[in-house]
Amino acid sequence: MINGSCCCGAIKFQLTSPPGMMGMCHCSRCRKVGASALAFVDKGSFNLLEGKEFIQRYEPEAPFKYARTFCKNCGTSLGEIGSESESFPISVNCLDDDPEVRTQFHVYVGSKPAWYEICDSAKQFEESAA
Ligand SMILES: [Zn+2]
Ligand SMILES: [Zn+2]
Repeated sequence: MINGSCCCGAIKFQLTSPPGMMGMCHCSRCRKVGASALAFVDKGSFNLLEGKEFIQRYEPEAPFKYARTFCKNCGTSLGEIGSESESFPISVNCLDDDPEVRTQFHVYVGSKPAWYEICDSAKQFEESAA
């Protein structure tokens, strides 16, 4: 079991198996919501234990796609917790345990701020990996 929670503890969840992959997104949007380190989890492995009522959803306007969720009380960014997709990204920052996966790629490296230096050998993409 891999446990996760927000800063204030209102939201608690568990992953029954490790995320499929993990990557860093350097786009300004992920940076601003504080969710640059993302791990992709299968819906079936994600169990929300507490705090459904604290999950706030931010739906961006077109052309941007991905909704972001965060704790209404403390602001901890959660990635896309609450998504209906079979696999969705969660913010690695809110995990309390080792996700057992490591950064496999960096996307939107072209938008990376000067103050952030990539110090691993994971694959880099100027924009999305697709
Ligand atoms: Zn919270
Ligand atoms: Zn991003």
